[in-house]
Amino acid sequence: MFDKINEKICPICGKDNNCMAHSDEPCWCLSVEIPQELLDLIPESKKKKACICLKCIRDFKDDPGKFINERILYNS
Ligand SMILES: [Zn+2]
Repeated sequence: MFDKINEKICPICGKDNNCMAHSDEPCWCLSVEIPQELLDLIPESKKKKACICLKCIRDFKDDPGKFINERILYNS
């Protein structure tokens, strides 16, 4: 149960991604450009299954180098 992919949880920070893919409104994530480097940070098993949250996208765009370094530390 705990290793089931939760599509509402951001695969990078583990918080609610507010994805609207299953609601009547188009999800914000469809109108946002997600950098490939950010997608590359998602573990293989979670790719294309859960959305990245808006905060991670913003933080990444603010300072990609810092964001990547923090994620690498966090995951190791
Ligand atoms: Zn996130």
